[in-house]
Amino acid sequence: MNVAVIGSGTMGNGIAHVFAQHGFSVALIDVSQNALDKGLATIGKNLDRQVTKGSLSADDKTATLGRLTSFTSIAEGVRTADLVVEAATENVELKLNIFRELDQHAPAGAILASNTSSISITRIAAVTQRPAQVIGMHFMNPVPVMKLVEVIRGYATSDEVTRRVMDLSRELGKTPTEVNDYPGFVANRILMPMINEAIYSLFEGVAGVEEIDTVMKLGMAHPMGPLQLADFIGLDVCLAILRVLHDGLGNPKYAPCPLLVNMVTAGRLGVKSGEGFYSWTHGTKDLVLAERFRK
Ligand code: NAD
Repeated sequence: MNVAVIGSGTMGNGIAHVFAQHGFSVALIDVSQNALDKGLATIGKNLDRQVTKGSLSADDKTATLGRLTSFTSIAEGVRTADLVVEAATENVELKLNIFRELDQHAPAGAILASNTSSISITRIAAVTQRPAQVIGMHFMNPVPVMKLVEVIRGYATSDEVTRRVMDLSRELGKTPTEVNDYPGFVANRILMPMINEAIYSLFEGVAGVEEIDTVMKLGMAHPMGPLQLADFIGLDVCLAILRVLHDGLGNPKYAPCPLLVNMVTAGRLGVKSGEGFYSWTHGTKDLVLAERFRK
């Protein structure tokens, strides 16, 4: 079976890795040759780590790399695809254009999936001539490690396509969960209000950054606190998803905390900018509070 993955960034290279490791031929496609080179190098490094840990043989690593090809053109890369998984930048117009192009160039029977975190699958499907074959396949980061695939049924997605994508996810060793297409799906519908409430608790002076994260880590057995997690996800991404929830559901409970809005406006985006609730300029191993939140 041939799979094409659109986008060779954080998620795309992980998705390509997992499909190739499980025996699928994978065409990795990106507009940027540099992103493709980086993505393939990351896959190589992550496979090496699996070999060192003993969870993959050196022969399987070579075979996995042998199943990967790369393209800078969607038209060429998807020509023989049975399944396309789109993991390009989270931007509505960009994704709608990609799906118009996919509809034109992928075989008529191909399933077109999107890894979007928050854009409506029904809206994406509506720009194609095959809405019954368009579906959400929401992998979690890091893809080779995380077990969940949130499988999102658009309004028109067929039962048959849903069943095939659920089966394919299991073939990758993942646990698929079927959900319907409403803002935030399930993962972000529940996660983002929790992160927003943690930021409100800080904003209102209920507790400091460390105290909020410690309560959630030790009290709720979360592997990391919500403020640290927000720094990892990117505060701009959290804000964008909260706005999708707020606009799409119209309930004021989803209004983003003004502190989050201010931090994003000031360019404090978390790990990727070097500072969010914590400072990350020294790397991501140790937790150091951002200066503003020190007591
Ligand atoms: P990223 O910025 O790391 O990678 C996006 C890639 O898409 C870039 O390499 C870019 O060059 C490429 N791209 C842009 N336009 C393109 C086009 N027209 N054709 C082909 N490639 C194109 O982003 P990411 O974090 O990997 O996110 C990708 C998708 O996955 C988004 O929809 C995001 O919401 C979703 N997602 C991200 C995470 C996460 O934790 N990062 C988790 C779940 C889902």
